[in-house]
Amino acid sequence: MANETPSDAYRFDTQKVRAGYEPKDHNYAVSPPIYQTTSYDFRDVENAKNLFSFNEQGFLYTRVGNPTVAVLEERVKTLDGASAALALASGMAAISYTLLNLAEGGGRILTSPYLYGGSTDSFKKIYPKFGVQFDYAQHIERPESLAAQIKPDTKAIFVESISNPNTVLLDIDAIAKVAHQHGIPLVVDNTVATPYLFNPIAHGADIVIYSATKGLNGHGNLIAGLVLESGRFDWNNPRFPQFAEAYYTLRDENGRHRTFVEVFPEAVFTTRIRFNYLNYFGAALSPFDAYLTILGLETLSERLAKQSGTALALAKYLEAHASVEWVRYPALKGSAHHALYQRDFKNGAGGILSFGFKGTDKQREAFLNAIQLFHYHVNIGDARSLIVNSPQTTHGELEAEEKALANIPENLIRISAGLEDIDDLIADLSQAFAKANA
Ligand SMILES: *Cc1c(COP(=O)(O)O)cnc(C)c1O
Repeated sequence: MANETPSDAYRFDTQKVRAGYEPKDHNYAVSPPIYQTTSYDFRDVENAKNLFSFNEQGFLYTRVGNPTVAVLEERVKTLDGASAALALASGMAAISYTLLNLAEGGGRILTSPYLYGGSTDSFKKIYPKFGVQFDYAQHIERPESLAAQIKPDTKAIFVESISNPNTVLLDIDAIAKVAHQHGIPLVVDNTVATPYLFNPIAHGADIVIYSATKGLNGHGNLIAGLVLESGRFDWNNPRFPQFAEAYYTLRDENGRHRTFVEVFPEAVFTTRIRFNYLNYFGAALSPFDAYLTILGLETLSERLAKQSGTALALAKYLEAHASVEWVRYPALKGSAHHALYQRDFKNGAGGILSFGFKGTDKQREAFLNAIQLFHYHVNIGDARSLIVNSPQTTHGELEAEEKALANIPENLIRISAGLEDIDDLIADLSQAFAKANA
């Protein structure tokens, strides 16, 4: 029946168009409506009291919750097999609120050198001013070695499942095991993979982060982020005293102050972000952008499957080209990450690949200037193919030694495959190579 609750048993492709939304609760509207409202009338004084004391669930004010945004949260929560999800105004808000929620008041985060440029730069410039320090894993490809870098005040391990721009794959299961042996959670930025290609929670992650700006939405028309939690990590833990704080706002009917662990056992981490960081730092996602993200999600599998096929075809084309020094793409047989790809990425390796341009700086610039069909800008995961010289742009904040650590050589060119005809894309690269070599 068209108006029944989507069953938990539905598979991924069904959930991506149905989860978290029941038409009968919304005047039988098939497409989730945009609740363009700041606030919500209380039924009566009792209702207001119950909402403020969390004895009744409902919406109060769109900064902390909105019905359209809630559909997005429920949908991604279902796709990832999470216990709770929180949508935010950007991927950077998702990262910053997560890291502050983990390490507020001071602490360390053990991370990987293979990260989004904005993450690396903010870890250096901003977080230390809030008492949050970062340690870079010396051998992230050997997860057992991480144990030696976990200190008494390390609050989490933070990695990307497919790194941007290098498409480095990590053994997430093994990294999760080391984290859990030391009583700390594993945070995975799953932006590039999306839940279609990789499910971090199934591989042991405790917290998953998305920039929904990229592949999740996939149309290059908004900025959005999400934080999800597995519901499995024990926050009642002396390493995280902030989760043992009892608040007046969480009091029970007898006036006893309670903790997030007591009141929201399935959603401790994201609820604490919602009512502390989202509530008071305020990076709320707009209902309209949530609506567009829901729309984008409806074609997630179809887009990622086609982009993975196109990226592999482009990788093979580039591998055979005389003007290409190397190609990095996990689905290539020669890739250093091919074994992990075969083990963990049954649906493909996604749309991002990179290659080393063989030639002078001038020829590389001539190549980029000659490109006609690919867009030249800093986004990824769009329906339109993109090409960019990452070391000089998206990762331009990194100093020379940081680029060396992240393995980003100056001649790296990153592609994000879109949905165009593969022959048109290859023809565009070919004519640009020809002009660069002319
Ligand atoms: C883009 C990106 C971010 C930041 O997301 P915004 O939505 O642009 O704030 C974080 N992580 C990764 C891997 C990204 O690609």
